[in-house]
Amino acid sequence: MFDYPGPVEWRTQWRITIRWDHADNSPVGAVTLERDCRTPAELRFILGRARSDEHVVAFPYRQVRVLVGDEPQQCRAGHTYRGGSATRPARDWWPCACGGHLVIRCVCGDVMVTPVVGDDCNARAR
Ligand SMILES: [Zn+2]
Ligand SMILES: [Zn+2]
Repeated sequence: MFDYPGPVEWRTQWRITIRWDHADNSPVGAVTLERDCRTPAELRFILGRARSDEHVVAFPYRQVRVLVGDEPQQCRAGHTYRGGSATRPARDWWPCACGGHLVIRCVCGDVMVTPVVGDDCNARAR
């Protein structure tokens, strides 16, 4: 996913499932298609297309929170996270109200938390 350059963050998206009456009537050649819409405008566009397609029998959608962006590639001391097991950092996950945080602990002791813990977060360091 190169659509989201920049720091890792939680984004609200919409996941829509489009169902056709028959695979032959679907542009994707399958009865169902699951698709993520990143913006309200994209969702409206997809909904409009689904409504105008007489072979579409249902198009339920729901809001989802997805983690987007590029993971950090090195710690603050400059150690790269790629490499052999001697330099590979430990990865952890903090459950949180925002959706969760990826925690990367470098062998040097540096700890990166991404996305950055914000005011609404209830994640706890363990
Ligand atoms: Zn380090
Ligand atoms: Zn959080």
